[in-house]
Amino acid sequence: PDLEVLDARLTGCRACPRLVAWREEVGRVRRAAYRDETYWARPVPGFGPADASLAVIGLAPAAHGGNRTGRLFTGDPTSDFLFAALHAAHLAALPYSHSRDDGQRLYGTRLVSPVHCVPPDNRPTPAERDTCRPWMARELDLLGPTLRAAVVLGGFGWQALMPVLTAAGYVLPRPRPAFGHGAHARIEGPDGPLDLLGCYHPSPRNTSTGRLTLQMATDVFRRAARLAGS
Ligand code: SF4
Repeated sequence: PDLEVLDARLTGCRACPRLVAWREEVGRVRRAAYRDETYWARPVPGFGPADASLAVIGLAPAAHGGNRTGRLFTGDPTSDFLFAALHAAHLAALPYSHSRDDGQRLYGTRLVSPVHCVPPDNRPTPAERDTCRPWMARELDLLGPTLRAAVVLGGFGWQALMPVLTAAGYVLPRPRPAFGHGAHARIEGPDGPLDLLGCYHPSPRNTSTGRLTLQMATDVFRRAARLAGS
């Protein structure tokens, strides 16, 4: 299938009982500010063009962000931070991400999620991560011919990505590259080399404490854009 078909199939997935229950519960209870909204409350597909040369790999949709709006990194403070950095690196049309009809566009970049349903406490179990893995594997496989670089937002995404790359025929160096902010590894794959870059996750836990500043995130995206040729 092409990416659009894959995304449409994904939104009907109910393979993880705990996450299906949680995504629907969050959509039923709702946050006071969004009481009158209908939450998406389904798996959230990737966002960005099918011929992207750069993938940005997160963790899972946020309860009142992606799970509410139906688009990854959309509708909460984490989203606005991430898109401010992407915009500064000329990878996004707008420096914020509010809703699916806000006019946002990504240039040569696709947001990808290792887990597509919101988990309680933002913590998927290892079993849920593994159950969702084939979706990310298929998505990256479809991007494969154009994909040149990936920015991975946090250690969870980094760990989730490694077996996907191995299964897709990429040759990982030994020891395996470790996650860190600014980490960089070039790995050989069936469609040519892929540059992997690490960046702290733009959650409030990192951005409100100054562990991740806008300049730090922007620097990683600018470097990734150069490597990806996007
Ligand atoms: Fe399906 Fe992934 Fe959601 Fe589990 S997390 S229900 S595998 S889309």
